[in-house]
Amino acid sequence: MKKEVLIIGGGIVGLATAWRLMEARPDLKVTVLEKEPELATHQTGHNSGVIHSGIYYRPGTLRARNCMEGYGELLRFCDEHGIPYDICGKVIVATRPEELPQLDKILDHGLQNGLKDIRRISAAETREHEPHVNVVESLWVPQAGIINYRKVANKYAELITARGGVIRTGFKVTSIKRSTNEITVIGEAGEVSGDLLISCAACMPIK
Ligand SMILES: Cc1cc2nc3c(=O)[nH]c(=O)nc-3n(C[C@H](O)[C@H](O)[C@H](O)COP(=O)(O)OP(=O)(O)OC[C@H]3O[C@@H](n4cnc5c(N)ncnc54)[C@H](O)[C@@H]3O)c2cc1C
Repeated sequence: MKKEVLIIGGGIVGLATAWRLMEARPDLKVTVLEKEPELATHQTGHNSGVIHSGIYYRPGTLRARNCMEGYGELLRFCDEHGIPYDICGKVIVATRPEELPQLDKILDHGLQNGLKDIRRISAAETREHEPHVNVVESLWVPQAGIINYRKVANKYAELITARGGVIRTGFKVTSIKRSTNEITVIGEAGEVSGDLLISCAACMPIK
């Protein structure tokens, strides 16, 4: 019998986790449990929609590596599945002279993280990208972009269900019970048991 993995949380982290698990281990049965009637209605559906380039993160850290690798994987996933995005670039601005050393530091992090073509630009050049901004100087980051993460999440859901995974919306997990050979999640909508539980529910108080 297939081992069953339960994943709590139908945001982008829960859905991406489910999909990668199904790709890597087709022998597993995967079930995603989401408390809302629809997926991606919390942080995933209400963020700024930026495709981060990794410029802010300290070189050599897991965070930097994760962001740089994730950037490439996200774009590959979107290209493969026809999800629109726009690599429009962004400006990181210094509005006062005392902020210029901070721009230097961010530029240095970006270069060390391997970002190409990032550079300091003048106030005039900044206004070519963003006419409404008033700055001393800024950093031009061509790799940054925008995307609708809800669309990415919904594509994951489509792939998961097409491959036999189960997504149960309207299932709020209120407690978790573990016995020697299984783990059971309990909610008002019922109970589901599996062999392994992964919580991707951001902050979920459980008993
Ligand atoms: C203001 C803001 C702006 C951001 N902007 C960006 C950006 O531009 N680019 C970027 O890459 N990142 C951005 N982020 C970060 C990004 O939004 C998060 O890293 C990402 O959405 C987290 O996804 P998640 O799946 O962990 O969380 P969520 O999307 O919140 O998913 C968690 C899910 O768990 C469910 N859940 C919770 N409790 C239970 C329960 N008891 N039972 C069942 N289900 C439950 C929730 O309903 C929810 O759907 C931003 C974050 C914030 C706060």
